[in-house]
Amino acid sequence: MAPDSRGTTPGTRPGVRILVVGGGYVGMYTALRLQRKLKQRLRSGDAEIVIVTPEPYMTYQPFLPEAAAGSISPRHVVVPLRRVLKDCTIVIGEAQRVDHAKRTATVTTLATGEDGTGALEIGYDEIVIAPGSVSRTLPIPGLADFGIGFKTVEEAIGLRNHVIEQMDIASATRDPAIRDAALTFVFVGGGYAGVEALAELEDMARYTARYYHNIKPADLKWILVEASGRILPEVGEAMGTYAIGELRSRNIDVRLETRLDTCEDRVAVLSDGSRFPTRTLVWTAGVKPAPLLAATDLPLTERGRLRCTATLGVEDMSHAWAAGDAAAVPDLTAAEPGRETAPNAQHAVRQAKVLADNVLASVDGKPLTEYRHAYAGSVASLGLHKGVAHVYGRKLKGYPAWLMHRTYHLSRVPTFNRKARVLAEWTLSGLFKREIVSLGSLEHPRAEFELAAGGGGSGTPGLPGPSRPKGPGEPPRDAGAPPKDGRTDG
Ligand SMILES: Cc1cc2nc3c(=O)[nH]c(=O)nc-3n(C[C@H](O)[C@H](O)[C@H](O)COP(=O)(O)OP(=O)(O)OC[C@H]3O[C@@H](n4cnc5c(N)ncnc54)[C@H](O)[C@@H]3O)c2cc1C
Repeated sequence: MAPDSRGTTPGTRPGVRILVVGGGYVGMYTALRLQRKLKQRLRSGDAEIVIVTPEPYMTYQPFLPEAAAGSISPRHVVVPLRRVLKDCTIVIGEAQRVDHAKRTATVTTLATGEDGTGALEIGYDEIVIAPGSVSRTLPIPGLADFGIGFKTVEEAIGLRNHVIEQMDIASATRDPAIRDAALTFVFVGGGYAGVEALAELEDMARYTARYYHNIKPADLKWILVEASGRILPEVGEAMGTYAIGELRSRNIDVRLETRLDTCEDRVAVLSDGSRFPTRTLVWTAGVKPAPLLAATDLPLTERGRLRCTATLGVEDMSHAWAAGDAAAVPDLTAAEPGRETAPNAQHAVRQAKVLADNVLASVDGKPLTEYRHAYAGSVASLGLHKGVAHVYGRKLKGYPAWLMHRTYHLSRVPTFNRKARVLAEWTLSGLFKREIVSLGSLEHPRAEFELAAGGGGSGTPGLPGPSRPKGPGEPPRDAGAPPKDGRTDG
C-alpha cells in the first residue's frame, strides 16, 4: 500500500500515522519500539508507521573499520529494515522537504522521474526526524575531487578495495613516483572514525604486504593529520596519548596541530609545509547535520541541528520529534548548563527509546519523559588485538581493550541473527588467514561484458559502463595519469 493512499491530511485517515525520516540508529530503534508497543493498533489499522530511508538497511557504523579490514563482511554490518520492521511501511526514498505546518513531507523515490508521477507527498500526524549527519568538509582545494569519507558501508568497502589496488599498482609500476604515491595513505581527522579506519586498514595492509614479492610493510606510509593537540577525545586524554604512542610505534606518522591546506593534483599539502603525493585521502574531520534539516519549517541551532527539548520534541512545535546526530538535545547531566548531547551512537540508541515512548504518550495524552544519560565513555579498536577504552572511569589498553571493544559491540549490534553471523566470522578469521583480495571490479559488473560486446558507451543507466569510474583519491581520466592498473609503464 502506498503510504499516502489513505489521504495526506491528518484527520482524513482512520488512525494515527507516524512518519519516521531516516532508517539509521534513531529511525530503526524508534520504529522497532513503536512497532512493539503499537502491535494491536497496527494490525487493526488504527495506527500506521511509515519509514522513509534511502537504503533498505540500518548501518552499524562502529563496525565499518572492521568491515574495511575484512574482519566482518559488509552484509553483516547492516540490518535489513524490511525484516525487522515487518509491521511498518518502508519507503525507499529521500525526504526532500518537511512542511510541518501542513504535516506533509515531500519524498523522492527511485521511481520518481521514471514514472512521471513526481515526488510523493506523505501526510502524517506525528513526525520523527532522524536523518543523522553527513561529513563536514571545508573549502580545501582538491578535497571534493580526491577525498573520500568514512560513514557508509560503500565507502568502507570501496576504501578496502582501493588500498589493496594501490598495492597492486605499486607492485607493478616501474615509476618510483607512482609507487610512492600509491603507497602513501593520508587520513584527516583524529576522532574514532578516522583513527579506527586508519588503524584497521594499516593492520590489514601490513599483513597483505607479506604476499607481495616487492612490497615490505615499511614501504607503506600512513599519515594521520589532526588539527587539535590530541586524538580520540572520546576515550580521554591519557588513553588518547597511549593511542598516539601505539600508532607511532607502528610507524604511523601522527601529526597533531596540523591541518590539510590543499590536495590538488593528488598532492596533500599540510600546514607544517610538508607535501605528500598520494592517491588516497580519507576525510573524517567531523560531521554536520543532514542537509534535509535546512528544508523544513522547524527551528535550527546555529550549527544547523534541530532545536529540541529534553523530551525530544522539536522546540515550540507539537507532533514533531528528533534525536541523534540531527538533534540538539540539552544534556541534563552536564555540569555546565547549555550543553548538548554529543552526536554518537550511545546517545542515539537511548534517545530513540525515550522518543518512541514520548510519541506514544503524546498520542495518548499522557505525560512526557525527559532524556537523561551521562556519557559512559568509549572503546576504540586500533587494529587486530589492539585497542583503547575508557568506560565508567576504567581505563584499558592493548588486548583487554580490544576484547572489550568486540564484546561491547557484539552485545550492541542489533538482532540475534547479526550477532551470530559476526561472531561466526570472527571465529573463522581467528582460525584461518585474513582475506587479502580486492574485489573492486564488483562495483563495475558490466565492464567485462561491454568490452566483450565491443560497446564503447557509458552503459545502461544505473549500471557503470566499461571505463571504470574513479576510485577514492583518483584524478579525472583526462588528467594525464596512467590507467588505474599502472602497467603502461611496464
Ligand atoms: C566509522 C564510524 C564509527 C563510529 N563509531 C562509533 C562508536 O564506536 N560509538 C559511538 O557511540 N558512535 C560511533 N559512531 C557514531 C554513530 O554511528 C552515530 O552517532 C549514529 O549513527 C547517529 O545515529 P542517527 O540515527 O542520528 O544517524 P544515522 O545512524 O547516520 O542514520 C541516519 C539515517 O538517515 C538517512 N537519511 C539521511 N538523509 C535522509 C533524508 N533526506 N530522507 C530520509 N532518510 C535520510 C541516512 O541514510 C541514514 O540511514 C561512529 C560513526 C562512524 C561513521
